[in-house]
Amino acid sequence: MSIEELMRDNIVALEPYRCARDEFEGVAEVYLDANEYWRSYIDFPGDINRYPDPRSSLLRKAIDDVLGLDYDMTIVGNGSDEIIDLLFRIFCNPGKDSALLMGPTYGAYKVFASINDVKVNVAPLTEEFAVDVNLVKKMIDETKPKLVFLCSPNNPTGNKIDYDTIKEIATYNQAITVVDEAYWDFSSERSASDLVKENERVVLMRTLSKAWGLASARIGIAMCSKKIHEAMYNVKYPYNVGLPSSTEALKALSNSDKVREGVEYTKKERERLVKLLKSCDKVVKVYPSDANFLLVKVTDADSIYIELQKRGIVVRNRSRELNCANCLRITVGSREENDRLIKALGEL
Ligand code: PMP
Repeated sequence: MSIEELMRDNIVALEPYRCARDEFEGVAEVYLDANEYWRSYIDFPGDINRYPDPRSSLLRKAIDDVLGLDYDMTIVGNGSDEIIDLLFRIFCNPGKDSALLMGPTYGAYKVFASINDVKVNVAPLTEEFAVDVNLVKKMIDETKPKLVFLCSPNNPTGNKIDYDTIKEIATYNQAITVVDEAYWDFSSERSASDLVKENERVVLMRTLSKAWGLASARIGIAMCSKKIHEAMYNVKYPYNVGLPSSTEALKALSNSDKVREGVEYTKKERERLVKLLKSCDKVVKVYPSDANFLLVKVTDADSIYIELQKRGIVVRNRSRELNCANCLRITVGSREENDRLIKALGEL
């Protein structure tokens, strides 16, 4: 099937909105084209009174330079959550099409599917949270999903999906395969970015919310082939990334050495935290993680969650997720924060 055949007909036929900044991309002395106010009232290093660049060009250039994701193939979203929602809106006919998820995985896929009235089928991960490739292929054949989501490293389990497995599924799947690499910076696995260049049906997602320390700036990145790129640009809100956010993101990207140091720190802390957690009485199992969090099976997740909260520590109770009975998801924090967690667990 071609990309157009996979897309919703109304998206293929869409006459997109063209904003003032689409029609004029150069530099002028006087801007009277976008009904903005002629000045701002606050100190800001940039034209905060003007609408931002709908293409996020400077930011995408920096993303290309620093992250190696090709300028022509990237689109910046209001977090990768926006990218997920866009994919449902572009490919899935409400009330008709479906998506295939591995389970357990990032909860927002299902919520965005529901909002768009898209059915979700779940291929359960194995007990050790590996992807069951044969089952996934069978479910692709039977349910004919428009979107297959592969999250690597996976949230909430923390483990990665091997590059070869991702490639095998993406090659088999004749619809769209979405590879969510939100936590990729903390992993040693090869990125699926080159698959996007080989296979026009693969969409890669990254975010600056995790390793890049910019969760509040809301910068998500999609890397995709030309026709999907065009559709994403046409469907997204025209000014989806504000100047304050892209300014801060440019600062972070120009400081990538610091970020790489931070990633090394987190990986070391992850290792230390695994050891410390394993020595706690209340901990039954710590699952292997390629992310900046750990899935931890404890003796009684509900009560430990509450007891930690009483001590000022909030973790995520994931015990109602598939195969996650009595599991807490714990973010790797600073050394002091991690020590506080271990101390609190020791007091229980
Ligand atoms: N994907 C995964 C796997 C996540 O865990 C998250 C956030 N928790 C996101 C995407 C969304 O990230 P953001 O919208 O902040 O870019």
